[in-house]
Amino acid sequence: MHNTSPTVQPTLSHVASCLSAYDPNALPVAHAQQIIREFIQPITASENISLHSALGRVLAIDIISPIDVPAHDNSAMDGYAFPSNSLRPDESLTFRIIGTAYAGRAYNGIVAHGECVQIMTGGVMPLGCDTVIPQEFTQQASDTSISIPAGSVKAGDNRRCKGEDLTAGKPALSKGKILRPADLGLLASLGIGEVPVHRRLRVAFFSTGDELRSIGEPLDEGCVYDSNRYTLYGMLTRLGCDIIDMGVVQDDPASLEAALCNACENADAIITSGGVSVGAADYTKQIMAKLGDVSFWKIGMRPGRPLAFGKIASNGKSTYLFGLPGNPVAVMITFYFFARDALLRMMGAEQSPLPLVRAISQTTIRKKAGRTEYQRGILSKDEAGQLQVRITGSQGSGILRSMSEANCIVVLQHEQGNVSAGETVEVVVFEGLV
Ligand code: AMP
Ligand code: MG
Repeated sequence: MHNTSPTVQPTLSHVASCLSAYDPNALPVAHAQQIIREFIQPITASENISLHSALGRVLAIDIISPIDVPAHDNSAMDGYAFPSNSLRPDESLTFRIIGTAYAGRAYNGIVAHGECVQIMTGGVMPLGCDTVIPQEFTQQASDTSISIPAGSVKAGDNRRCKGEDLTAGKPALSKGKILRPADLGLLASLGIGEVPVHRRLRVAFFSTGDELRSIGEPLDEGCVYDSNRYTLYGMLTRLGCDIIDMGVVQDDPASLEAALCNACENADAIITSGGVSVGAADYTKQIMAKLGDVSFWKIGMRPGRPLAFGKIASNGKSTYLFGLPGNPVAVMITFYFFARDALLRMMGAEQSPLPLVRAISQTTIRKKAGRTEYQRGILSKDEAGQLQVRITGSQGSGILRSMSEANCIVVLQHEQGNVSAGETVEVVVFEGLV
């Protein structure tokens, strides 16, 4: 592992003061996202790992291609290679076959005017050749010659040029890239078997609430099973984080303080759920404020209005903190629209906002201007192939079933009012979402 010392960090209030109007009690989504983005510093430690372990990891350096790929001009088809100066417009031609070039076994002679070499896909273009006629366009003229009809091929056809995929000395992949299957293949095509990636982010998380019961415990009156533990587990795992699952912490100041300090000393980021609104037993806020630089926001959004964000410290170690609301749908929405981006930034990943797809709303949607609303939706195609979306019934922030049934989130922007049927809206598709 290589480590460099962290840069000096501005305080949250300093970052927030750069906004034109900052009101923690009515903070637009975009402002909260901006403050978080500016406050978060990426981790710098990296490690070298083999390609097999690198899927989903974040590349720590730019990769410069050490070689040309392909290394030689070669054939894109099974057929016959010949010099294009043999071509005559409007004339069929006959070529004498003087040899064969296989993929991995070149033909070493020189090919002259009127001659050709039988060549396989990937075979190195013999000296003198720049054009390939596919097998199926040719006719066997004799044991040692083929004929090709007039106009069936142009100079340079079916030739892959040296370096056309990747050029030696040029950037092949940029740092910050989350490595996907194609990237692993690309690195392999360069002969690179190990890459430096940012170390995995360690994220500790726990649920708060006296009413929460863990699976296996009896469900006492008025209690609910802790579901946030599992949605958070799923979302963090997909993001590629190392997780520290701390289960349920009671609404009790001493337990909360101990849990936060423990998490702080062992993780890069902490995610809690519950306790950040205004309930009488919501000690979470007090303890978070006591332990560091934490802001408590009421965000102009639905679901997920209350959010705590900042940094806490314990025993000389400091850690980012996301205090998400408790309601099961609010947890997921605030995770996807605030924590996800911040965690990716911490992981050193290049920033790419969640892709928004445009779809026609099949129904009217009630929406209040002045807050961002996230509604669970089902995206489909109509007969004409146009994307359309309908909302999954009740949008209560405790109704996890509608989140499970949804395949997308309809994002109704801050200024937007009611949506009529047939109007275009933007959605974030769940499939492929990390
Ligand atoms: P809070 O934000 O703590 O006021 O919680 C808001 C609502 O979400 C309450 O109805 C809680 O019971 C519920 N809730 C909080 N945490 C969880 C959890 N981990 N699993 C399921 N429901 C929860
Ligand atoms: Mg609570």
